[in-house]
Amino acid sequence: MTPIRIGHLYGNLLNTYGDNGNLLMLQYGLKKRGLDFTVEVNSLEESFKANQYDLIFFGGGQDFEQKVVSDHIQTKKDELEKYIESNGVLLAICGGYQLLGEYYLSAKGDRIEGTHLLNLYTLNQVNSRFVGDVEIFSDEFNETYYGYENHNGRTFIKDPVKPLGRVIKGYGNNNEDKTEGARYKNVFCSYFHGPLLVRNPHLVDRIIDKVLEQRNQSTEQGTKLKQIIDPTSV
Ligand code: GLN
Repeated sequence: MTPIRIGHLYGNLLNTYGDNGNLLMLQYGLKKRGLDFTVEVNSLEESFKANQYDLIFFGGGQDFEQKVVSDHIQTKKDELEKYIESNGVLLAICGGYQLLGEYYLSAKGDRIEGTHLLNLYTLNQVNSRFVGDVEIFSDEFNETYYGYENHNGRTFIKDPVKPLGRVIKGYGNNNEDKTEGARYKNVFCSYFHGPLLVRNPHLVDRIIDKVLEQRNQSTEQGTKLKQIIDPTSV
C-alpha cells in the first residue's frame, strides 16, 4: 500500500494546548499497524486539492490566528467541501472545529467567518471561558472519552451534524444541550485538548479504521474501473 498521506491544515498557525499530540498519536497508531505515512503542513503558502490527503488534522488556536486562517481558508473551501462530502477523514479540534462551521463570534464579539462546511455556528460568552476536565459518552462507538476543555466559544450543532458524544462531566459544546463535539460523514470534531487522542487511544483506532475503509473503497473503485476499461487486466 502506498503511504497514508496526512495533511496538517494550517499546522503552523493553529496548534495550541498540545494539539500536535493528536498528530503524533495518529502517526503512532499507523506505525503500530505497520502502515507507512507522510505528514505535511498545508497552510498559507500551499494549495489544496481534495485528493491530496487521506487524513487531515486541523487544530485549535487563539482568536488572532483564527482570523488569519478564516481569511485564507476560503481559498481552500471548495476543495475541502469535495474532500468532506466524498468521505475524506478529518479531525478538527476547538478553533479548527469552529472554522468548519458557519461563523465564530470571537471573545471580543467580532464575527469570524467559517467555511460553512458543517451545519453549526459558534457564539461567544462575555468575560468567561469553559475550562476544566470533561467526560463524554459516544453512543456511536459505545465508548467514553476523557479530556480537558478551554474555550470561549459556545457551539451549536444542527442536523445532519451529530455530536461526538453526550456530556457526562464538563461544559461540552455550549453548556446547554449536553452535546460535545461533532460528527458528520468521516469528520470528527471536538473541544478536547489534553490532547484528545493521547487520552483516548481507542479513538485513534476509529479514525484509522475510517482511513483504511476509504483506501479500500478507492482501490475497489479503481479495480472496477480497470475491469470496465480492460476486462482482461484483472
Ligand atoms: N479561540 C477559540 C475559543 O476560545 C478557540 C480556542 C482553542 O482552540 N482552544 O473558543
